[in-house]
Amino acid sequence: MDLVGFARDNGFEMRFIEYMDVGNANAWSLEKTVTKKEILEKVHARFPVREVGRAHGSAPAVDYEFLDGAGEIGIIGSVTEPFCSSCTRIRLTADGKLVTCLFAESGFDIKRLLRSAASDEELREQIGKIWVGRTDRYSDIRWQQVQAGGYQPRDHKKIEMITLGG
Ligand code: SF4
Repeated sequence: MDLVGFARDNGFEMRFIEYMDVGNANAWSLEKTVTKKEILEKVHARFPVREVGRAHGSAPAVDYEFLDGAGEIGIIGSVTEPFCSSCTRIRLTADGKLVTCLFAESGFDIKRLLRSAASDEELREQIGKIWVGRTDRYSDIRWQQVQAGGYQPRDHKKIEMITLGG
């Protein structure tokens, strides 16, 4: 709450995100996750807010404005309100892998294509095929399993977030 107060006082928009099981090394558990609902209730109790929605269709955060006009906060319900169906994020790693989901185990080797002197058109076509063919919905599935009481963090080797960026 001190940080929310600081952001309000200095014209910053504070953004919260639920703790996620990205990578393999962050010891995530559902019990340690502070949900979007809890965050919102805590902020609202101290600084009343109202929902203004997402900045655009694929924005991960839902924005809330303070009723007293002192700005906004954003909350990403990455675990409890998954948004895979509107996900438009693709990531390119420093070693040339195109990764279509934050929780992927591997990426598509774009570097090899680049080094093979593929034309821009071939690259565009290949990237389009990769994107159209993706079936990623890790967070949707995780939330369905959590609600059904049977979620266990997957035992597959996810790419670490330090490799992927945010
Ligand atoms: S889990 Fe994967 S598909 Fe779903 S929103 Fe995150 S990055 Fe996108």
